[in-house]
Parts: sequence; structure tokens; C-alpha cells
Amino acid sequence: MASAPTTTDADLRTLAAQTAAALQSVCRDHGWALRFTPGQPMSGSAYVQFPPLRVDVVEQIITGLRRLMTYRCLECADIKRRRAKAIEAGCPQTAAAMAVAMGLHQRAAH
Ligand SMILES: [Zn+2]
Repeated sequence: MASAPTTTDADLRTLAAQTAAALQSVCRDHGWALRFTPGQPMSGSAYVQFPPLRVDVVEQIITGLRRLMTYRCLECADIKRRRAKAIEAGCPQTAAAMAVAMGLHQRAAH
């Protein structure tokens, strides 16, 4: 019987570093210049840490996150509308083309 793979502290540090970099990158994409660093592994878990944030910066982040959660993409809405119209009009080629367009748009924009 094969033993379960062990997660070493080195693995956890690597995971923490990758996660910190990914989080920093996503935040940068949204205009938040935050610095995340890998933390010390504890009790078999990886951690990411960040320096204390000023309350006004956190308020900006909260506002930005709320906007992202309620954001409605106009292009998504347009593609959905055109697909629905094509289905209603009995035009499967156009409906299929809109499904493809949605896939491409999702990959490019979201
Ligand atoms: Zn969209």
C-alpha cells in the first residue's frame, strides 16, 4: 500500500509563495498595490501575510470588491440577448455562434 504523500514545510513555503504572488497579481489588476508575502508554515498549513493596512485603503478595497460583485458586463448581456433572439427566431447557427462568442469573450475578458 502506497503511503500518502507528505507535505513538507518546503512544499508549504512554495505554496504560500505562489499564493501570495497570485493574490498580489489579482490585487494589482484591480489597482490595489498590496504586498503579500509567504508566511511560516504552521500545523501543516500554508499562510500568506500582509503588512497592516490603513483603514482608508481597506475601505477602498471593500468598495472595489462590492463593485466587482455587482458588476454586470455589457458585452455578456449583449451576447446573451443576441443568443436568446436567435433561439426565438429559430436560427440555431446564430445561437451556436453566440455560444462560441460567449466562450471566447469569457476567456478574454473575465
Ligand atoms: Zn462579459
